[in-house]
Amino acid sequence: MGISTFRQAKQRLIDIVKLTKTKYGYDSINGYIGINDPLAINLGIEVEERRLQFDFGIYLTSEPGIRPKPVIWLDTSSADQEHINFTYYHEISHHLIRQDNEIYEFLNDIAGQNDDFDSLIDRFANIGAAEFLIPSDDIFSIQQNQGFSIQILPQLDECYPASKPAIAIQLAQCAAHRCFVVVCQFGILPTKSESQPELMKSEITGTRRLYVQYSSNSPSQEKYSIGKYSIIPENHLLYTAYKSQDYVSGNDHIPFKNGNKNWAVECEGLYYKGKVYGVFNLSKPNSPGASQLSLF
Ligand SMILES: [Zn+2]
Repeated sequence: MGISTFRQAKQRLIDIVKLTKTKYGYDSINGYIGINDPLAINLGIEVEERRLQFDFGIYLTSEPGIRPKPVIWLDTSSADQEHINFTYYHEISHHLIRQDNEIYEFLNDIAGQNDDFDSLIDRFANIGAAEFLIPSDDIFSIQQNQGFSIQILPQLDECYPASKPAIAIQLAQCAAHRCFVVVCQFGILPTKSESQPELMKSEITGTRRLYVQYSSNSPSQEKYSIGKYSIIPENHLLYTAYKSQDYVSGNDHIPFKNGNKNWAVECEGLYYKGKVYGVFNLSKPNSPGASQLSLF
């Protein structure tokens, strides 16, 4: 059977991640432990820690005569441990996607139609990373019992301390309704200029802003996605959450990268440990105890 929908592709990736974890008896609770991390060794990947100019991680496939083994470059110098964990599993997921012809060909085929190939692969690698850190089965049952709200994030953080971006992405991936979930960071926005594609993260100048670091959409909302590094304007509800270091809810527009502000929906923003976690609900979320739709 071939893959013909996003849901099938995602499901296949999640199955591959689950299988990989089971096969190597892998417990992701502790996250990345260094260049001899057993997961990379088991998968035949070499990990090199090094400073990277723009990204925090890069996956390179093996190439005859040049690179006998696939390699992950991981920048562990400037990021926090949760970010390193997430980046590591993101790059591992790049490898798993690259190794699987069905997923890879499906993404390649649809990329031309509605998304750019790299960002599409990255969205999938995020889904894989989230599954490594937090089983979607757990999040399904939590959403079923407690309903859907960004306010359950602190409680999930206590059970799954390895990565908050993974929690946010799993919340979107397991949602039965149509929504976007974003993780926003305050700081200087990394930018790549056309003339200078290798712009350094360390040499960036500019004003500090609230911007989207990770974004994910629920399986029933595949048509649009919120781009990485989209800016949250100062009059936005998520900015209010950042300023007040609190939880806020109300109506506001979805921060698409093209600046289109016409699409206002129900929105929640939660300031938690330095970042803002946001939800945009395009349809009514589950209330506690409501029955869930089947996985994807
Ligand atoms: Zn990537």
